[in-house]
Amino acid sequence: MTEAQERVEEQGGTPVGTLYVVATPIGNLEDITYRAVRILGEVDLVAAEDTRHSRKLFAHFGIKKPLVSYHDHNEQQRQAGLVERLQAGENIALISDAGTPCIADPGYCLIASCHAVGITVVPIPGPSALITALSAAGVSTERFAFEGYLPQKAKARADLLRKLNGEQRTLVFYETPHRLAATLAALVEILGAERFMVVARELTKLYEEFFRGTTAAAVVRFAQDPARGELVLIIPPGTQGPQMNVRDALRKLLNESDLSRREAVKLIAKEYGLPSSDVYRESLSLTEEE
Ligand code: SAM
Repeated sequence: MTEAQERVEEQGGTPVGTLYVVATPIGNLEDITYRAVRILGEVDLVAAEDTRHSRKLFAHFGIKKPLVSYHDHNEQQRQAGLVERLQAGENIALISDAGTPCIADPGYCLIASCHAVGITVVPIPGPSALITALSAAGVSTERFAFEGYLPQKAKARADLLRKLNGEQRTLVFYETPHRLAATLAALVEILGAERFMVVARELTKLYEEFFRGTTAAAVVRFAQDPARGELVLIIPPGTQGPQMNVRDALRKLLNESDLSRREAVKLIAKEYGLPSSDVYRESLSLTEEE
């Protein structure tokens, strides 16, 4: 008996289909769960972002199921038809080109419609680039904020980065190689040249790389060898990372500039997104130390 049939039986035999939201690999084809392969083989239909792309995945695993396209441009038209088929008792899997559907990918409208009419939605978890990147970046992941893609327009991007500058959670962005240089330049300008960051590139693939360093060093690294492939940017709060910490930055500023304590504290608090009172306390303990 398939997972869907068991569910129908549990629900007293009501022949309503189930929508499975299935995560697929983000590069390495071995990164798919047994359950995902089984479900893809059991459903009646698979709604895929790009059917040609998904055919390759299906060929690799010997899955022979009808595929229908479901992407950003036909989401609205497709939705009603898919819901009807689910209501008629068919089981459908939703997949995207890579990773988890709905994570910077289409799907949530269909899922919301299913919930609204009482169709069971079952997640089949698996890889997602943001979690994969965070898991090996070596930064605090206790609290993080996923911001998706930064806006393409320079002003909108700068405005958003300014808003996020004081964020105390680790920031995670998706990025494309052709926009990386402009984004790194904006990060240097707005978050500062010394801000620690991680660029996770080509995760689970042959040229997987974790660049760890300051925003300024990232500019140099990726100017010498422009990034190819897929990218996740991770920026922990200003006080994290092996580069200059608040205390060192404060000491440097007080020793090497004519700024008053108050001015230095204000500047550092802004750059690191910290309350001025904390930075002021830090400056007093520096004076005591000296
Ligand atoms: N649904 C996917 C997920 O769960 O991660 C994300 C889809 S989104 C359209 C594609 C973006 O995810 C890429 O531009 C890149 O930022 C990130 N990404 C996907 N695969 C990646 C990989 N193997 N390495 C690094 N980043 C990746």
